[in-house]
Amino acid sequence: MRVQEVKNVLESMGKRPSKRLGQHFLIDDKVIERQVGLAALEPGEKVLEIGPGMGNLTEAILSTGAEVVAVEADAAFCRFLERRFGSRITLINGDAVNAFLPEFDKVVANLPYQISSPIMFRLLNEGFETAILMVQREFAERMVAEPGTKDYGRLSVGIFYRARCEIAFNVPTTAFWPQPRVESSVVMLTPRRAPFAVADERVFHDVTKAIFSHRRKKIHNALADDPASYAYFADGDAPDLKGLPHASSRAEQLTPAEIAELSDAFLGLITLPKRIA
Ligand code: SAH
Repeated sequence: MRVQEVKNVLESMGKRPSKRLGQHFLIDDKVIERQVGLAALEPGEKVLEIGPGMGNLTEAILSTGAEVVAVEADAAFCRFLERRFGSRITLINGDAVNAFLPEFDKVVANLPYQISSPIMFRLLNEGFETAILMVQREFAERMVAEPGTKDYGRLSVGIFYRARCEIAFNVPTTAFWPQPRVESSVVMLTPRRAPFAVADERVFHDVTKAIFSHRRKKIHNALADDPASYAYFADGDAPDLKGLPHASSRAEQLTPAEIAELSDAFLGLITLPKRIA
């Protein structure tokens, strides 16, 4: 679609792009083709699309013979999509973070940036073969960041634990209308088992959260100071944490496997039978 076509559609709907819903429409067919191409879709495969908008990406997915289930929060766009695609797609009008999702094999989406993180972890919980997602470039860089870099953090560890992730290509702001302020990237996410074991996933995630909330502190101080971790100890019962593995390092130096080692040792110190949620 060209800019003028996008504008015409919006005008026919009497609508302006909503900032709150992150409405930036893809106007570069090459980007659309490349993104859909990465999904290597086969006829009959079920593709989940989040935020189809006016259907620019949807049309390209359908042209591969794949089936589309699309979740769109904006009711006005849902009406437009019904007219445009009719029974060619299954459409759900709702918030993709909470809506019921039928089964799907793959995900292809130009994600509304506000929900990138919750939707990504929801998808990983649901399970899929591969996801080709447009996200903010800065977010993509945090997803794939290696230990020892400034972008490495809770998101990198959370993603690494569940999936293989790579940045497929970067996308300039000019590929969208209205133009966003920041650049985007298409990432490819392939779920896999973590290459290390974790005794308790919840503790692993809470320890990760605690140590990255205090990046400049030593691990033992971060764990003593953050509610995500000290909540595991009965009042006034905080043990000496200096004996934990990597206690004197800082979060960004630790690989996900080392954080797992730390969190397993931390688990052994917990004085509450179960954290009070
Ligand atoms: N895929 C289209 C539109 C992308 S803009 C294109 O590339 O041109 C992002 C879309 O996500 C908008 O249509 C917006 O209404 C929708 N959206 C925003 N928040 C959403 C949510 N929580 N659940 C589902 N859709 C959402």
